[in-house]
Amino acid sequence: MNFALTEEQQMIQDMARKFAEREIKPVAAELDRTHEHPAEIVAKMGELGLMGITIPEEYGGAGMDYICYVLSMIEISKACASCGVIMSVCNSLYNFPVYAYGTEEQKQKYLKPVASGEALGCYGLTESSAGSDAAKMRTTAVLDGNEWVINGEKKFITNGNVARYCVLAAVTDKSAGYKGISSFVVDLENTPGFRVGTVEDKMGINASGTAELVFEDARIPKENLLGKAGEGFRQMLTTLDGGRIGIASQALGIGRAALEESIEYSKSREQFGQPIANFQAIQWKIADMATQLDAAELLTLRAAWLEENKLHYEKEAAMAKLLASDVAMWAAVEGVQVLGGYGFCKEYPMERHMRDAKITQIYEGTNEIMRLVIARSILKKR
Ligand SMILES: Cc1cc2nc3c(=O)[nH]c(=O)nc-3n(C[C@H](O)[C@H](O)[C@H](O)COP(=O)(O)OP(=O)(O)OC[C@H]3O[C@@H](n4cnc5c(N)ncnc54)[C@H](O)[C@@H]3O)c2cc1C
Repeated sequence: MNFALTEEQQMIQDMARKFAEREIKPVAAELDRTHEHPAEIVAKMGELGLMGITIPEEYGGAGMDYICYVLSMIEISKACASCGVIMSVCNSLYNFPVYAYGTEEQKQKYLKPVASGEALGCYGLTESSAGSDAAKMRTTAVLDGNEWVINGEKKFITNGNVARYCVLAAVTDKSAGYKGISSFVVDLENTPGFRVGTVEDKMGINASGTAELVFEDARIPKENLLGKAGEGFRQMLTTLDGGRIGIASQALGIGRAALEESIEYSKSREQFGQPIANFQAIQWKIADMATQLDAAELLTLRAAWLEENKLHYEKEAAMAKLLASDVAMWAAVEGVQVLGGYGFCKEYPMERHMRDAKITQIYEGTNEIMRLVIARSILKKR
């Protein structure tokens, strides 16, 4: 077993770290305050290849491996969790299904612009009454001549208010249950009958837009079906497995930020005539944070390695997301404690880390659902 990073992996980690520290970290608090979409930063991330890391160069991507994806996601999310999720959704939830299930023509037309960073992608699965139980979706797509006519509303869609393209799940055969779900690639800018609905006001990841997508007799070309009709649910499960590696990495970035800022603060803050880092109570928090974060990072890298090597990674991705998100949430709460009253104030980024960490336990499958996925996978083998 070899834990050493390759030259390419070290290079992307280093590049993403430098970029995030120089261009993202200084503006992260302001982005959180204004809720503004970080368009300029995202455009630069595209130029650096971060919006299509694992996609081959012929389709606009950087042609790197899933370890590179994890390492760069951690660095970007450490500076700004909103930028992290914008990147993760494009890479895992949009690029992946278009690359894996799209035709050559679809890849040229719909993958290239997102993988190269020219446009943003989003992923429309959730509905107001279909969250964890996504198969209960009501959005329909009905074939009418050479077009699919789409009706329904998607809820909580990351990048939904800024994305040009969407991988959308809809019911094409109501009588077939989850086998009647299909997915489509939609050019949102050129789809009559589509509009962006409510943009959510959230607790955290404020610079990442979370929007409703509304389709009212929206028409898309017949050839925009992704894969075959009825394969959408299966595609979704595989897509979300990969997405969970992205969210685990986002969580790790938030957790690492909490740890680094706790270390820095505890060395400079003096009480009772000495740095608070001298107190065992603080040292144990830092030791536990570092240990738990390393454990979660190893799980995440294992899942990425499995995905890269085309082995089963459903359970391992769920484990990584479960542990990394719980550790990030806990580390951020501990981080606030290390900073005392200052941790509770917006003068320091720690309270933002705490707000940002929470969502990683919820989206792309809640941690209750992660346990269900893990348990099912273990029990079916016995
Ligand atoms: C900021 C944000 C961004 C998002 N981005 C996207 C996106 O880009 N695309 C997209 O399609 N969706 C997106 N989502 C939706 C997200 O994936 C869902 O919110 C999530 O899957 C949970 O669904 P729900 O909110 O309907 O909760 P529910 O499914 O209603 O769950 C409520 C509670 O019940 C628990 N629960 C439900 N079923 C079970 C069960 N069987 N066993 C045990 N406990 C259970 C849950 O764990 C949770 O604690 C986003 C959500 C948010 C908040």
